[in-house]
This record gives sequence, C-alpha cells and structure tokens, in this order.
Amino acid sequence: MAQMFPGKFAYFEGAYIPIENAKISIMTHAFNYGTGLFEGIRGYYSEKKNAILIFRLKEHVNRLVRNCRILCMEISETSEDIENICIELVKRSGFKEGVYIRPIIYKSELSLGPLLKGVESKLCCYVIKLGDYCDITSGLDVCVSSWRRLADNAIPSRVKATGSYINSALAASEAKQAGFNEAIFLNESGMVVEGSAMNIFLVHQGELITPPRSESILVGITRNTIIELVKNELGLNVIERPIARTELYVADEIFFCGTGAQVAPVRSVDRRIIGDGQPGPITKKLQDIYFKIVQGENEKYSNWCTIVPCE
Ligand code: PMP
Repeated sequence: MAQMFPGKFAYFEGAYIPIENAKISIMTHAFNYGTGLFEGIRGYYSEKKNAILIFRLKEHVNRLVRNCRILCMEISETSEDIENICIELVKRSGFKEGVYIRPIIYKSELSLGPLLKGVESKLCCYVIKLGDYCDITSGLDVCVSSWRRLADNAIPSRVKATGSYINSALAASEAKQAGFNEAIFLNESGMVVEGSAMNIFLVHQGELITPPRSESILVGITRNTIIELVKNELGLNVIERPIARTELYVADEIFFCGTGAQVAPVRSVDRRIIGDGQPGPITKKLQDIYFKIVQGENEKYSNWCTIVPCE
C-alpha cells in the first residue's frame, strides 16, 4: 500500500484552511449515508519543468460535475472554480513528487433520512503525495472476486460515490486476505466488469477488449485515455464488449488501468498464468506511452497536462 501524508491545506467550506481543521459533524448526511461524490486525480512531478503536471484535470472535473445530476447535487463552485481549487491546493502543498488530488462533493446537511433532492451539498478538496498505488513492473496476481459488482440500478458505479466503495473494499480485502494483489469483479450475469478501483483490458490474438460502459463500470478517465492511445499510437481498435470469466484465463495479456493503478500488468488470474507470466508487449508499449505523456514528454498530448510550477 502506498504511503500517504496529507498536504498542509484543504479547501473546506469555501476557504483554504489547515487540513487538520477541515472537519465535519458526525451528523453529516454524507457520513451517515455515503452520499459523497469524489474524484481521484494524479499530478506527476517533472524535474525538467520543475512543475507538477496534473493529468486530465478537466476530464475529472467534468465527470464529477456531470455525475452530480445522478445524486441531485448542486454546489456554488463552477467547474472552473473546482479546477482552480485543485491547482491552488497543489501549489500550496509544495510537494515536489507525485500527488493525488481528492475533490469531494458531499451532502453536508445535518439531516436525517436518506433523501437526495433538497439536501444541501458542499465541495471540499485535499492533496496528498502518492507514488505507485500497486505494482506496475512485474505483474499482479489477481483473483475473481466472490463479491458481485454493484448494478447500475442499485448503486450506479459510473458515479464515484463514497458509499459504493464498500463494494470495492469487500472485494479488495477478500483478495488480499487470500494472498492476491487485487480482485476482478463480475456482475450479476457473471461477466467481467473491472477491478476494485481500476478498469480492465484484455489482449487476445492482437485484439484489445474492455467491458462496455453499460456493464456497471466506472467509465475511467484512464480507460478513455488508453482507448485513444491504442487507436492513435498503436493503430489498433479497442473492442468494447462483455467479457466472460474464462476469457481472462486464455488472454495473451491483461492489464488494469486507473488513476491510482496507472497501467498495471496482470501476471495471473485465479492462479492461472497469463501469457508467459511477463508484462506483454502491448501492455509495455502502452505503459511507455502513458508515462511519457504524464511526465509532459509528448507534445502531442500536452493539453492533457495542467502545469503547476513549483517554487
Ligand atoms: N473503476 C473504479 C471502481 C475506480 O475506483 C477507478 C479509479 N477512479 C477506476 C475504475 C479508474 O478510473 P480513472 O481512470 O478515472 O481513475
């Protein structure tokens, strides 16, 4: 598990305050009912530029704000404000290493009853430093979880809701307790969905396959990035279609992707070795492209990085 140390400041109730003072009441709606919506956004430190490069900030903020509609949330800050708050917190944190930005929109009212409409919401945000969230070099040993992924008509997983991470925590904990690094969720129909906090791609005889957005996945920003890079840089297409469990076992390559996971090769699934047990050539190529882009070393995609100069 990556080590996390909080930055000095948080954005809370409209102001930048010391993080230790950013506290909510135990009566807060979001604390009682899991009615928070959040994002996880990475910033990479570039020594060359002496700056933190926030990866796909606009896309993350866009997903956050769009998903507010599902939870009937309205806040006073605009998308532009949220972007600026993230940038300001990175500046104030003073980190010169990888960071992780966590904006949260939460139902802030001290009211009883699991309602959505008419319950006040607020924005808060903090920054921590973050290295690799999971191994990205030798490959992860993963299992198919006995826990099923939440269905869209139960708790929609396209919403990064705080409460829905109970589902992820159950699967990830089960996997770790059984000696695996990570879990793969199936949905109620037994089709492959995603990892506990990452999307999944398979390579099968030169084709890249990933579950479609209708399959109870979080539509990952990294997933969208990979789809675009596969098309632009590898000249291949990603097929978005349901994936059966046993397709995992016969895949040539499998990798996870996500803000935390980045591009993480899978070495085995349910103790069956994938390919030759080494990160495959397509996974390695994508890792290489991805890490150059997030470090600001590929001009073509420089608009994906928001540059925050360090002091
Ligand atoms: N699925 C889940 C359940 C996640 O928590 C995450 C991490 N945010 C992802 C997929 C990957 O999404 P993204 O690439 O936007 O970080």
